[in-house]
Amino acid sequence: MRFSYHTHTQYCDGKATAAEMAAAAAAAGYSYLGFTSHAPLPFKTSWNMAWEDMDAYASEVRAAAAAWRGRGLAVFLGLEIDYIASADAAPAAWPGAAAYDRIAPDFRLGSVHFLTGLADDEFTVDEAASDFERHMAGLGGDAEAVWTQYYRNLSAMVGRGGFDILGHFDLVKKNNAGNRWFDEGGAAYLAAAYEAVDFAAERGCVAEINTGGLARGKISDVYPSAPILRRMNQAGLRLTLGDDAHAPEHLGAFQGAAIAAAAAAGYRSLWYMDAPGSWKEIGIDEL
Ligand SMILES: [Zn+2]
Ligand SMILES: [Zn+2]
Repeated sequence: MRFSYHTHTQYCDGKATAAEMAAAAAAAGYSYLGFTSHAPLPFKTSWNMAWEDMDAYASEVRAAAAAWRGRGLAVFLGLEIDYIASADAAPAAWPGAAAYDRIAPDFRLGSVHFLTGLADDEFTVDEAASDFERHMAGLGGDAEAVWTQYYRNLSAMVGRGGFDILGHFDLVKKNNAGNRWFDEGGAAYLAAAYEAVDFAAERGCVAEINTGGLARGKISDVYPSAPILRRMNQAGLRLTLGDDAHAPEHLGAFQGAAIAAAAAAGYRSLWYMDAPGSWKEIGIDEL
């Protein structure tokens, strides 16, 4: 069985319509496909959907769901929603915000991309390498400030809840090919990641194995890395799959790599959503 709950469209930075993505998923033998365009934020970016487009996005995804109903592919309407910390007690954005209720999403994917207070301009962990380089120079190369805040934000998002799937757990490594800025095997880095893993497991989260970095040729590995996956397995954290597809050819291209990574970490089963809020377990051998 094939499934993914991380699919972008042209309403954000995706390259294809919901209809095109759903058709590609059906052709690739998917049973379940969840759409997660980047949700609108209190400020504009070049990759988040605009507030005024949210209804049209929802209609397109619902139309794709109707088109495939009874034909072997269940399509779900979701959003990839940022958790953004702020100096105030309340975050600047978070997955459970009522502003997203308007389209009654079937599920919400909670993700941390933004860092706050470390630069004067927009700073995301997955930004272009040149921007990341400039931001790191501004921090005097202090990568610990980056991953410390990243995992702190991730845990704050978990603590606040309001999402169904935890997105790309160690996205902070995206610009760190070859351990350029920090040692991903370092004790302090792994301790920060493991603390977030243990908390997510305690809260009963479902996290995704995300192959978007592989599909787009940005990194040579899945999110999360092998040591973090092993910790997830020990902690009993449930896993699902997310292609993070921005184009039809990303669908399913690396599901084998994701499943192999889970198996290598000791996982014997993964989880899929067969209806909003309903998780089912499936043996890795059956995938
Ligand atoms: Zn993301
Ligand atoms: Zn995404």
